[in-house]
Formats: sequence, C-alpha cells, structure tokens
Amino acid sequence: MSDITRAQEFDDVPCPFCGLLCDDVRVAITGGAATVVANGCARSRALFAANAHDTATALIDGKAADLATAIGRAAGILLAARQPLLISAGTDVAGMRVLIELAERCGGIVDHANGDALFRNLRVLQNTGWISTTLTEIRNRADLLVVAGTGITGRFPRFFERCFGDFDTLFGTGDRELWFLGGVPEDLPAVLRQRTKSLAVDPARLAEFFSALRALFAGRALKAHAVAGVPIGKLAELLGRMRAARYGVLTWAAADLTFPHADLAIQSMCEFARALNSENRFCVLPLGGSDADLTAQQVTTWQTGFPVRVNFSGGAPTHDSHRDSARQAIQRGEVDAMVFVSALDAARTPPAGDIPSIILGRAGMRADGCSVFIPVSVPGLHHTGHLYRADNVVAIHLRKLAGSALPSAAQTLQRILDAMKGPH
Ligand code: SF4
Repeated sequence: MSDITRAQEFDDVPCPFCGLLCDDVRVAITGGAATVVANGCARSRALFAANAHDTATALIDGKAADLATAIGRAAGILLAARQPLLISAGTDVAGMRVLIELAERCGGIVDHANGDALFRNLRVLQNTGWISTTLTEIRNRADLLVVAGTGITGRFPRFFERCFGDFDTLFGTGDRELWFLGGVPEDLPAVLRQRTKSLAVDPARLAEFFSALRALFAGRALKAHAVAGVPIGKLAELLGRMRAARYGVLTWAAADLTFPHADLAIQSMCEFARALNSENRFCVLPLGGSDADLTAQQVTTWQTGFPVRVNFSGGAPTHDSHRDSARQAIQRGEVDAMVFVSALDAARTPPAGDIPSIILGRAGMRADGCSVFIPVSVPGLHHTGHLYRADNVVAIHLRKLAGSALPSAAQTLQRILDAMKGPH
C-alpha cells in the first residue's frame, strides 16, 4: 500500500461543523480525503468528507482565473465600493479578525449570516442579562433539562448524547429528567425517551407560557384553564418539577425561534429561570456557535466593542442591530458590494442581491452569478484555528489533519487587504 492510499487516523479531533465542537471524533485521512470512523454524527460524517476531490479553482464572472488575478479583481471591487457588506457564514478567529480589518479599510458593514438568531439572544443579554451555564456543568450537575423547541437534535446532533446521556458524572445527579416544550424530537435516542416528558406548547406562545409559570411561581391564581394550549394542571406539574430540581437548566436554540418578537419569549424564559434561583439552582443555556457565529460575535466585540452588525462607514465603528443587519442593508440598497465567507460548509450561500459579490467558499460551493469566487481551505481539517463553542465560554483549538493547496480564509482576506493598500 502506498503512502497516498494508507489511512492515517487521528483521535480526539475537534469537529468544527456545529456549535458543540465535539472533541472526541476519530477521523481517518486517506489520500487527502477525510472519513469519520468513530464518535461522529451524520452532519460531521458528511462535512468532514465533503468535496475532497472537487477541482477548486478561482473564478471571475464564472470563468477560471488564477488566484492573483482573482485577488486583484476583489481588491478593485472593494476600492470602487462606497459601502460594502462583509458577511461571515463560517470562518475561524483568524479569518474573522482580517474580515473586520478589511471592513475598517473599506468603510463597510460587518455581519454574520446568523445575525437574526444571534440578536434574539443578544438583545436579552444587553437588556436584562441571564444566569447561564456551560455544557460541562450540564453534563456533570444537571438533574433536569427543559428544552424549548424541537430543533436542537437537528442543529446540535450530539447534544443529548454528550451532555445528558448515560455516563459517569463528576457529581451525583440522581435521576435525570428531560422535558420538551413543543414535542419530543423524532430522532431522540431511545435511552433518553424513557425519562422524557413533553408539553405541546406552541413555540410562538413561549412568552405567554413562561409568564404564566412565573405568575404561578409567585403564588398568583390564574383564571385561565389553559395557557398556550397547555392545561393549567400540566403547567403546575412542570413548575413543581422545576422547583424540585437541584440543578435545573432551561435551553433553546434561538435559530429555531423564528416568530416575531422571539426575543421577548427568550426574556420571559430568562426571567423565570432567574426567579427560580430564590429556591434552587436554575440556569439557562442559549445554544449557538454553529457556522462560527459566536466566534464572529466574540472577535468583533474584542476588536470594536460591539457584537456583529458593526458599521465603519463613518471611519469609527458604530453599531445598530436593526440598521446594520445584512438583510436590511441589502433590501434598502445601502450597500454596493459584498464579501461572503463560508469556509466550513459549501451549502451556505450568500443573500440574494444585485451587487458585485466576492465569495470565499469551501470547494464545491455553487458560485453562480458572483463576481469573484475564491476557494478556501477548511479550519479544523486543512489548517489549525480556533472557534467558540455553543456555550460561548471556551475557544476550542482546531487541528490540521490533511494538506490542502488552497489558502485559508484569513490568508485570502489578508491578500485582498494588501492588494487594496498597494498601487492601483
Ligand atoms: S454534534 Fe456537531 S460538533 Fe459534534 S460531531 Fe456532530 S456536527 Fe460535529
């Protein structure tokens, strides 16, 4: 067997393909192609293996171009732009740092593709704060986990296996119980179903549901027989269980809460969890981090003092979470060029808009209609890097497992920045 075809296996690999950043995946590399051989999920198996042998060529207006020419064209577009929009849909700390520097150089707006979901949580954090916990705390201490919404298994496939499964814990948790508000996910592991309860809460009425729970907790009598479709007796049963928890956690994925004013539902959940702390320990865990959205938020905050949706058009950074949303800036016609970076998942595509666009994407991405496409390597597969985890407290170091002829997003953005500073 030649070196090209002999598999090299890596243990305890951090997986960059959702916010959990599971650090126990085993990956085999054969001839540059990655295969998850243990501890993965369907998402990690698909994304580690994706597009390994795609021919990855820079494109200008759909035609193959060499990298230097594509860099020059990208720099020219940004130099000519009055106000460009720069969006991350998946790049590591190093890539995000240069994206912000580039935005500052060209007076642009920086956002993340998951910005709407990020700000559902951030508005609550900015206004009232929350008592939050970590994945490790849930794993080792929680005896009750209440989940608002049913999309978590799709977005974070190993969340329950990693955080609330049958394993030894550092501290005795006793019997553990799982409640779903909205229905039990079909793909929940069978071992967890045995200790699962659910209430058929309409997700769009979570604010009402938690306000009623808080009223019951405060000893107020409710005249209603049901709230958000749930009989009062069932509310009282859940309240009793939450009061009895030694370490309870309430979690949600803001990306699932797509109804109007979802931030008010999140605020209602956070206020109720805080109120419970007068009797026992109860925390929230707003799950995020996929597509490096929390990484974008962290880096932008270090660099500018604001989370994403930062506007450099006045020379200094300013921030307005509504005005500087990528979607709204495009709809209002306020931006005249776009940079879109998606180094993790080739399926992410930029928002529609009739403006020149520069896409830095994973090999295999469909780049129809863009002005410049530059394929980039994958953090955690082709190069080292750092991403922030779902609980926003740990930056995980990503490993290099395989070589790639492609530059990283950070290297490519730096070359565009350098080209803008050079003679034109
Ligand atoms: S759950 Fe997320 S981080 Fe864990 S292996 Fe699957 S995609 Fe990767």
